[in-house]
Amino acid sequence: MPVPSLEPARGDTGAGPTQPDPVPNRVIVIGAGVAGMSAAIEARAAGAQVVLLERDADTVGGAANQAALMLFSGSTEEAAAGIEDSPEQLLAEWPAITGGDVSDEWVQRFANANIPEVHDWLAGLGLGWGPPVLDPSGGDTPRIHMISGGGAELVDVLHAQLPPEVIWMGVEALGLEQDATGRVTGVQWRDVETDEVGTVRGRGVVVATGGFGWNLDRVREARPDLEGVVLTRASWSGADGNGLEMLTGLGAATQNLAAVGLYAHASRCPSDATVEMRVPFQFAVPWVDPAGQRFVDESAMNDLRTAEAVVDHQAAWMVFDTNTLTGAFTCDDGADARMSYTITDMVDDGFAARGDSLDALGQTIDVDSSALSASIEAYDRAVYAGEGDTFRSSVQNAQPVDEPPYFAMPVAVSVAKMFGGVDVDIRGRVLAVDGRVIPGLYAAGELTGMAGGSLVGDAGFTGSLSAVVLGGRVAGEHAARDRIARYGGVLK
Ligand SMILES: Cc1cc2nc3c(=O)[nH]c(=O)nc-3n(C[C@H](O)[C@H](O)[C@H](O)COP(=O)(O)OP(=O)(O)OC[C@H]3O[C@@H](n4cnc5c(N)ncnc54)[C@H](O)[C@@H]3O)c2cc1C
Repeated sequence: MPVPSLEPARGDTGAGPTQPDPVPNRVIVIGAGVAGMSAAIEARAAGAQVVLLERDADTVGGAANQAALMLFSGSTEEAAAGIEDSPEQLLAEWPAITGGDVSDEWVQRFANANIPEVHDWLAGLGLGWGPPVLDPSGGDTPRIHMISGGGAELVDVLHAQLPPEVIWMGVEALGLEQDATGRVTGVQWRDVETDEVGTVRGRGVVVATGGFGWNLDRVREARPDLEGVVLTRASWSGADGNGLEMLTGLGAATQNLAAVGLYAHASRCPSDATVEMRVPFQFAVPWVDPAGQRFVDESAMNDLRTAEAVVDHQAAWMVFDTNTLTGAFTCDDGADARMSYTITDMVDDGFAARGDSLDALGQTIDVDSSALSASIEAYDRAVYAGEGDTFRSSVQNAQPVDEPPYFAMPVAVSVAKMFGGVDVDIRGRVLAVDGRVIPGLYAAGELTGMAGGSLVGDAGFTGSLSAVVLGGRVAGEHAARDRIARYGGVLK
């Protein structure tokens, strides 16, 4: 069998487990999202020969192409803005933000490493950030950093570090190969355009296939309390959970699968109730639950807890009047279809309700009419007085609801990202349900609940891309180094 070149061409299958090992340093990474590309860069830096499989034929970067925000605690941007922050400060706030356990080694690692191993590393590759801002799911310190150029710039910066021959585009991993000892030795793949199949072998495999938010059935399995709650999709179509099934099929343990990142930042699209419909004034109007009561700060748009409150109350309606209407509403199915609806379309399709009085509106949406009227009257009083009320921290941009006809639209509960996943140790090695390491197998990114499997308790946080980069780097480095330590090999 010929010894493959340093960067194997597609179709090179490496050696079988019983043959002499011609690829002593090969690390195979599955998924060219931010986690997978970070792992590939790090594995190469540690001397490994890397093959990165990406099933999308044209695009790398996965979900991050649509992202923007990263969390850092103690950055130069914070210092320049006069914000005091540190790993200790983040750890002190961590239980309140996420319910996470600060004695967990991944929580410690993330707090201490997000500056040197993520911020400074990326800055060294050419990435920059704007001034940090306060975010309801980022703690009490303004530490959420907008990437200059957005998530697509992060993707470009990482992509630029990888020679083209490293990434096998349009190649889907179908399964993992194990030897008789249980060591993961290779990846079975399929070319998505030609249907050609093969196996690429190495001694370390990093799985970084992303979360499972697109798979609403799997989400409901992880969160039985979402039964009966209409869910929309705010993740991306690649987040189908195939890597989670692949690894649990090999006996991998999972942690915190119920820590699903939900947002209440849209309504539902009439053509497909799983598609989000943006409502420009959603955060400026009151929301009521099925009992006609307000229950949450409607202005907290990026707060993951807002959607959890909607789930607790089973459903919510945003209520507004004719003065608030601002043209058509737009749905975006995440691909190429954009659909536009007037309020009349929405009412006709049953995705909005109209009433000439609040009483009539309440009857149409099956909400207690007298409670609804009382809630809206109290809200209007607070808006006209210019004061905060029981629920809303500020009425600054709030719209009064007092000019008939009145309207109501359901607040969607949108599945965005996963903060639980496959359990890995502090080196990124996948742990089996009995606690043992599955040899040769590593995982990173949203597949591991952003990093480590155990970063959060029951709630997510904003800016988790920082953890995705860290988890990718850790898994890539250890997949390369563990291999070299175990088998020797040729370091670059
Ligand atoms: C609209 C939107 C906005 C967001 N905004 C933010 C934000 O501002 N801040 C933040 O921190 N997070 C944000 N997120 C979440 C964040 O982008 C993701 O958590 C993160 O990018 C996940 O990275 P990943 O590499 O783990 O997974 P992914 O980005 O999902 O990448 C996985 C890759 O693996 C590939 N793949 C999957 N299965 C296979 C297979 N079998 N074989 C080969 N390849 C495979 C996929 O094609 C993909 O390229 C946002 C997400 C979305 C959808």
